[in-house]
Amino acid sequence: EQEWKRFEQTTQASGTENKISSKSLPLGVTSSFQHWDPYPISVVSARGAYVKDVDGRKLLDLSMGFGAMMVGHLNPKVVRRVQRALRRTGTLFVTPSPSATEAAEAFKKRFKLDMVRFTNSGTESLMYAIRTARAVTRKKAIIKLEGGYHGGYDPLQVSVKPKLENIGPAEAPIPEIPFENEPGEVFVVPYNDLPYLEKIMAEHADRIAAFVLEPVMENISIVLPDEGYLPAVRELCDRYNIALIFDEVKTGLTAGIAGASHRTGVIPDLVTLAKSIGGGLPVAAFGGKQKYMDAVVDGRMAHYGTYNGNPLVMAAIMAVEELVTDKAMDRAEKINVNTLKKIDAIIAQYELPAHTVGMGLKGAITWSTAPVRNYRDFKAVDFEMAELSWIWGINRGIITPPGLDEQWLVSLMHTQRDMDKLVEHFREMAVALRS
Ligand code: PLP
Repeated sequence: EQEWKRFEQTTQASGTENKISSKSLPLGVTSSFQHWDPYPISVVSARGAYVKDVDGRKLLDLSMGFGAMMVGHLNPKVVRRVQRALRRTGTLFVTPSPSATEAAEAFKKRFKLDMVRFTNSGTESLMYAIRTARAVTRKKAIIKLEGGYHGGYDPLQVSVKPKLENIGPAEAPIPEIPFENEPGEVFVVPYNDLPYLEKIMAEHADRIAAFVLEPVMENISIVLPDEGYLPAVRELCDRYNIALIFDEVKTGLTAGIAGASHRTGVIPDLVTLAKSIGGGLPVAAFGGKQKYMDAVVDGRMAHYGTYNGNPLVMAAIMAVEELVTDKAMDRAEKINVNTLKKIDAIIAQYELPAHTVGMGLKGAITWSTAPVRNYRDFKAVDFEMAELSWIWGINRGIITPPGLDEQWLVSLMHTQRDMDKLVEHFREMAVALRS
């Protein structure tokens, strides 16, 4: 309660702003994920690892646009390249352009794709990846993860963080949850559960076009694949002629220099990329194996878009390509590992009911002592503690992602000193909790 009072005192302008914006924008925001209760912090500018809000506070940004700002806000290299496109090149031709070829070549090499197409958002990439899988397998249904989020495409709205009270215990089977308009189009499976996945595939393989999953689940804190899970998924998809689609919208470069698939050693048939690849500009991609991308070549799969691969966003992609070097990534990952270690030490010292999970440049505190292997295990999380640590940070100048189960990102512009602010505030909270 004390923390909520402090929140309302220090964010009055944000509250006023939300009242005004709610008259023209539903909930006062332009994407429902931007809304938090009682109102979101309204930001006026950002640079490096910090944002300034309408109350005049400078906040350490650990959300970094859900990972889209992986190279930092207003990274000079991105600014320079984009400015050059604005001044000299033009912003949209709706014709092929060498800038798109250059970016596609870079992606082929980095992510080991046979071919790639650019889009404007993760949602779009998922829609086209699924359409591609359907065109090649000539099947319709998809499998997705229980609790998994993949953007706004209709079939992927099934089981997006369903109410935990509606989820059975870990051993309870999942009822088939048909997509409301087309029964049997979407099957839902828990992450890290091979027997259930195999059962669904064995029973319905003749209808299932694709299994869509994040290789590392990143919409419920960070949930890592069990040893052997992803290779077994790859094997099952091959056995049943089901396209394996890795949604790397969130993992992508934040998971490593060539994404989570290469880090885990399992190569999907199709991959979707967005956020981290574009330096904060609206650009995304889908791509993969020739067998699948051939459907785009021969027209079995229709892919269109006025803004696709425009020179402005291609400039941003090439700036990110330049920035994402082994050295820069190692440096950021070391900072993340150090931060996780420091927080682990505080959890141990104060015997807090929590543990940390890290992946590449991201980290999270999960408020449960038991490991979380899938959405069902999330039932063990203490959401009150998660909320307290979130608001504790905001009240002390640290903006973490609004969801209570999101993660922090060490961007290429964060320093150890920046991350130590998180560590220190976490220690203060631990002391306050134990006193
Ligand atoms: N897939 C995942 C895993 C995401 O986290 C998101 C967005 O948060 C999307 C897809 C959708 O991407 P976009 O918001 O660019 O449409």
